[in-house]
Formats: sequence, structure tokens, C-alpha cells
Amino acid sequence: MEHKVTFIPGDGIGPEVALAAKRCVEATGVEIIWEEVIAGQNALDKYGELLPQAVLDSIKKNKVALKGPIATPIGGGFRSVNVAIRQALGLYACLRPAKSYPGVKSNYKDIDLVIIRENTEDLYTGIEFEVGKPETKNLITEIEKYSKKKILMDSGLSIKPISKTASRRIVKFAFEYALRSKRKKVTAVTKANIMKFTDGLFLEAAREVALEYAGKIQFEEALVDNMSMQLVQKPHNYDCLVLPNLYGDILSDLCAGLVGGLGVAPGANIGDTLAVFEATHGSAPKYTGLNKINPTAMILSGVLMLRYLKEDKAADRLEKAVAEVLREGKSVTYDLKPNRDDPSAVGTSEMADAIIHKIQGQF
Ligand code: NAD
Repeated sequence: MEHKVTFIPGDGIGPEVALAAKRCVEATGVEIIWEEVIAGQNALDKYGELLPQAVLDSIKKNKVALKGPIATPIGGGFRSVNVAIRQALGLYACLRPAKSYPGVKSNYKDIDLVIIRENTEDLYTGIEFEVGKPETKNLITEIEKYSKKKILMDSGLSIKPISKTASRRIVKFAFEYALRSKRKKVTAVTKANIMKFTDGLFLEAAREVALEYAGKIQFEEALVDNMSMQLVQKPHNYDCLVLPNLYGDILSDLCAGLVGGLGVAPGANIGDTLAVFEATHGSAPKYTGLNKINPTAMILSGVLMLRYLKEDKAADRLEKAVAEVLREGKSVTYDLKPNRDDPSAVGTSEMADAIIHKIQGQF
């Protein structure tokens, strides 16, 4: 079956890793018609806006996008193009697998975890009140009145909304994902003992949804502080973790660290009908145009995309090829070599070539 996919090269090293991923996906033989659109600095230069409507329209039309990282401009009113895309398209689930591949340096072996992070609420909604502003002072006075608790007048405030609707939706997504990918357990991670009305609500929603999957998928609860220690000490005890936005952000980086770091950490932002696949890492500006950065995270995001498109054979083929190249450790970028100045390290595009060569060997 032929698929249409929006392709967003991104900023900084984005175009290099996104092209590597696109070439590897194509090498699997899956028929894809790519529609290339630009967002970020290139779009600002060309069209005067960081996120042209055409980008969102293209994703809405094609339903699936492969996206390189986009830099967030420092200063100015725009928070982040990446966050804006997720919000505009209702991509409420952030999926971040953390899987060990032999050949990648790490203190752990055989890890196969998936982080499912709520993407729309929590402290990330950007509802903030700056220290000293009249509205901040008014709000502090109001909150003190209702809570009967003291807040220092020289405080800033960030608001943490967590709803039953979004909590149920993300936990349901986690259980459905676990079912589909033949996983065994979902662990809901919160700080419900302290934030009873936000994290407590999330946990309550998780418990309710878990009942619908009783006998099919195990359910477990954990506190985020303890979970951080458990993940470092016994990461093999966990399978799928579902978390509110902030904890999800932090623990997904922790889990990326368990399997070798940002260079190998893929990701996806998924909604009810649309999905954008992108690496966890950013645009690493200092490496722009050097053909140096590791394309693995972006290529593994391509694997996630193929699975989403129900092209499992192609996904297996690509993942196997990536795993072989990583295991051999020959045609890999500098960061995957035991010694970072190893002269035998290859560039981004050459690593993609090696992966494509392995795929071709499978036919
Ligand atoms: P970053 O992830 O871009 O890079 C930090 C460092 O991590 C790099 O300097 C490099 O040493 C290492 N690194 C990252 N990716 C790597 C790879 N593929 N291979 C090898 N090493 C790699 O983080 P940053 O410097 O904090 O952010 C740069 C820009 O990217 C910012 O503007 C930020 O807002 C943006 N960003 C975008 C996304 C996204 O598009 N989803 C995500 C995170 C950050």
C-alpha cells in the first residue's frame, strides 16, 4: 500500500538526520509519497513565520509526518515550534521507547522500556505569572484567601492543570499500546501522595482505566522519586510507564541515558488520527552541516513510523539493519566509537548508507 507522509527537515542538524531517516525508510521498499514542507528558521527566512499554516495543513491531510528537530528561537514571543505543532494537532501522547542495542555504550543491557508521556497539560501549558507583576500579586492574594496558605509576594507562579479527560485519554492510550505491542505491564508514575488534586486525579483515572484491562495487562503504581531510583537500580522490572507531562519529560531522558543517550532515543507524538515522528534530541546547532551527528535516533523514529503505518515487516527490516550496524560498530558516528576521536568514525550519511546496505542484503 502506498502512503503519503509529510517530511519536515528541521533546523541545525535536522536536515542531515531527517534525510538519513527518509533514505533508510525508503530502502525498506515501502511506497511513500513524501510531501516536503519547511518549519523553523528556514520558514522564517522564506515566509516570515516559524510555523506556516501549510505545515499543519499538510500533516492534517497526510495524517503522518517525519520531522527533524527544530530550534526554539531565544527571546521573542514564540515558545517552541515543536510544542506548537503538538498542540495545534492534538498530539496528546508522546511515545519514547528506550531499548538496548548491543554495540551502544551503556551501563545496562537488554533494556526494553517504553515511556508514554501526556503531552498537553501539566506545568507545560505555559500558564505562568511573572514575579512582581500586578496580576501575579493579585493572584497570590486570591490564592492565599482560598488556600489559607502563605505565598511570598516575590514569587513567580506556574500553573499545573491536570484533567480527568486528558489523564484517562493518555492511560487508555498506554494500555492500548501495551496490548498492541504485546507488552505485559503498565506502571502509572505520579507524586499523588503530595499533589492529591492533580497527580491524585491522574492516578485515580489510571486505576479506573486499568480495570478495563484487568486480566490482559498488569497495572502498577509508583511514585516518581522512587521510580527514578528503581529505574537506575532495576530497570528490567519495568515495561510501559505512563506519566503526566513533566515527569514524563524527565524520566524519558533518564531512560534514554540507560540505553546510550540522545543519539539513539527515538520518539513519536501521537493523537487520535495524526502522528509526528521525531527524535528526542534537538537541533544540536554546533554540529550543523558537519555530517557528524548520529542519525540513529531519527532512523529509529522512522521504525516507529513504519509500525504506525502497519508496515511491520519493513519496520523489522529497518530495525534489524540498524541493530547490525550498531553491533558491528564499524560504520558508526564518532559518539558510538569507544574513543570519540576514533578516525574510523563515519559521517551521518555514511552511517545511513551502511544501514541501507544491510537492508539491501536482506532481500
Ligand atoms: P540538543 O539535543 O540539540 O543537543 C545537545 C547535545 O546533545 C549536542 O550538542 C550533542 O552533543 C548531543 N546530541 C544531540 N543529538 C545528538 C545526536 N543525534 N548524535 C550525537 N550527539 C547528539 O539539545 P539543545 O542543545 O538543548 O537544543 C538545541 C535546540 O534544539 C534548541 O533550540 C532546542 O529548543 C531545540 N530542541 C528541539 C527539539 C525538537 O525538535 N523536538 C527537541 C529538543 C530541543
